[in-house]
Amino acid sequence: MKHKVMLVEDEEALALLLKYNLEKEGYEVLWEARGGKAVAEVEKNMPSVIILDWMLPELSGIEICKMIRNKPDIKAIPIIMLTAKGEEEDKIKGLSAGADDYVTKPFSIPELMARVKTQLRRAPEPQDDKELVFEDIVMDLTAKKVYRGENYIHLGPTEFRLLRMLMETPGKVFSREYLLKNVWGDNIYVESRTVDVHIRRLRKALNEFGPDYIRTVRATGYAIDKNILGDSEE
Ligand code: CA
Repeated sequence: MKHKVMLVEDEEALALLLKYNLEKEGYEVLWEARGGKAVAEVEKNMPSVIILDWMLPELSGIEICKMIRNKPDIKAIPIIMLTAKGEEEDKIKGLSAGADDYVTKPFSIPELMARVKTQLRRAPEPQDDKELVFEDIVMDLTAKKVYRGENYIHLGPTEFRLLRMLMETPGKVFSREYLLKNVWGDNIYVESRTVDVHIRRLRKALNEFGPDYIRTVRATGYAIDKNILGDSEE
């Protein structure tokens, strides 16, 4: 399992250069250019380390750093702050906002790679979820296969991602908007009705071999839930 490195940097040329070099080191790289999206992306992807630029659109690296340090689930992720500012005062500001390390632009690639490696030594080894289980539904994430009891369930890629999202947090109600964003991605325009269409397909495939565990919450969204059997509706 590769370590994930989250890169928050709005300068595309630099981001691509770093991405290339980090991937060469064997890391999985996630890149976000907008400051306003950084915290949500960190929460979603749970990287092992964050390389965070100071000057970003929407929210500064300092603000992002403080936000991350205030969120219990992500506060321990090491942050390396990148900045064009080189003054001692800025460095202190960066570190007091919660950054673990601070690198001034321009920096050499080997230097940054060494800093990343140092931070990763502190990070726990990434755990690969090999399987998700909800009642008799088993998702084999490595083989990308779904079983219900002994039965193999054939799902399309969208249904697979939908089910994975639901099964990662059983009982949690996911809004259509959230599902659209996290299953389809930001850049694709799809109507929220599309979610209903794919949920219907997912239900059809799963329910062939057992009860309906997908719960429709009127005007809100969907969850996978055992306790609310029978109240599913389209
Ligand atoms: Ca910048």
